[in-house]
Amino acid sequence: MTGWIGGLQVRRTDRGQTPVADFLCTACGTFRRITGRDKVRDFVHANPITDHRATCSANQKGTTQR
Ligand SMILES: [Zn+2]
Repeated sequence: MTGWIGGLQVRRTDRGQTPVADFLCTACGTFRRITGRDKVRDFVHANPITDHRATCSANQKGTTQR
């Protein structure tokens, strides 16, 4: 099984009600920030971690050793 390669965190800005979703893949360093209620909802709904795993550049090279 593949280990945890990143994280998805959803929070709200201090001012207003705008949700912010941060996605970070620690394997390849990809970082995405999504803001806006509809966009965040769609983004989370699409399983970005699973989705990213299929396209992760670190994953495509096979086992990464540091
Ligand atoms: Zn990645």
